Amino acid sequence: MTAPLPKQSTIAVWGGETGHERYERATQVPVVHSVSFGYADLDSWQAVALGREPGHIYSRNSNPTVRAFEEKIRDLERAQAATSFSSGMAAISATLFTFLRPGDRLVSIKDSYGGTNKLFGEFLPSFGIEATLCDTSDFAQVEAEFERGCRLLYLESPTNPTVKVVDIERLGKAAHAAGALVAVDNTFATPINQNPLQLGADLVLHSATKYLGGHADALGGAACGSQTLIDKLQHFREINGAALSPMDAYSLLRGMKTLALRIERQNQSALTIARWLQAQRCVEQVNYPGLETHPHHAVARRQMRGFGGMLSFSVRGGLEAIRLILPRLRYAHRAANLGCVETVVGPPSVTSHVECSAEERAAAGIPEGLLRYSTGIEDVSDLIADLQHALSAIS
Ligand SMILES: *Cc1c(COP(=O)(O)O)cnc(C)c1O
Repeated sequence: MTAPLPKQSTIAVWGGETGHERYERATQVPVVHSVSFGYADLDSWQAVALGREPGHIYSRNSNPTVRAFEEKIRDLERAQAATSFSSGMAAISATLFTFLRPGDRLVSIKDSYGGTNKLFGEFLPSFGIEATLCDTSDFAQVEAEFERGCRLLYLESPTNPTVKVVDIERLGKAAHAAGALVAVDNTFATPINQNPLQLGADLVLHSATKYLGGHADALGGAACGSQTLIDKLQHFREINGAALSPMDAYSLLRGMKTLALRIERQNQSALTIARWLQAQRCVEQVNYPGLETHPHHAVARRQMRGFGGMLSFSVRGGLEAIRLILPRLRYAHRAANLGCVETVVGPPSVTSHVECSAEERAAAGIPEGLLRYSTGIEDVSDLIADLQHALSAIS
């Protein structure tokens, strides 16, 4: 009898942690800072260099600490293979530059991460690659675009900062029928709440900087998928050079051990806070996929195991009201990141969409009076009391 597949919380702890030769029998993954790995005889050196035997040659290509990180995210995403990058943006740009060629067409959504949106609008066109961005909530429009040809369907769900949900299974099927590859940025959901490969995607991308690391102290990125696709990405990464550093890989690995615990808490707290915000008179709109009022709540229920820690809301009085609210929050960093143990808040104009102009944000459907709220692991009653105190400035 084979052992049942371990659950996500078990993989978060044990994935990538075993099966390596360890320094002095250390139980923890060591941080191997060495740039190169030495071989006394030419034959073993060659065998490793040509990939005939396992091992490492040079840390831009592979490194033992980085490898452990890649194996943990690979197992959490139930993928055949994974590779890593120096940041989430490095993972995303490597994917675009590995799988797209001049004349190709990419189909995506308007609500992708600000940096990704910049790649679509500013960098891809100069390589002769057309990026068509569809209304995120209009799945039929996305499907209709495939008829004009599509090499890559690029999705993100839930989205940043309006927390829209995209039907990955439906759009993925239609894209495959048109012969396209399907890539999904799973940063917001994390593999605890959603596994895009099991919904039919070919590639899953992560900004490990956010929930995977969870402590806002290390930058990193990851891509997971079939061995064939990951080999191509890995080859580009080796030459492009955006390698994850061993120290950051270690910080990310350490953070990932508590991923399931953190996400379970953040799922619960975010839903409680979203419901509380909905009942406040000074709050105009609350965006959270766990709310029954969310336009794609049914899709979220189908493809997610939890609705995540990210929500956003708009208050009466727009940006001026936000100016009054922000300084009154006690348990929140007012900063540009998300997904860490502390609560983090900020408007899109200085966070997710800082790279965009006000016009570009408006075109993407992001109101200037929106506040993005990344729920931390603090006690939810303290977070609500804090919000109540802050919102009293405008109510
Ligand atoms: C932060 C983020 C990125 C970019 O990741 P970096 O690690 O900052 O480069 C990409 N996608 C999403 C959804 C993000 O939140």
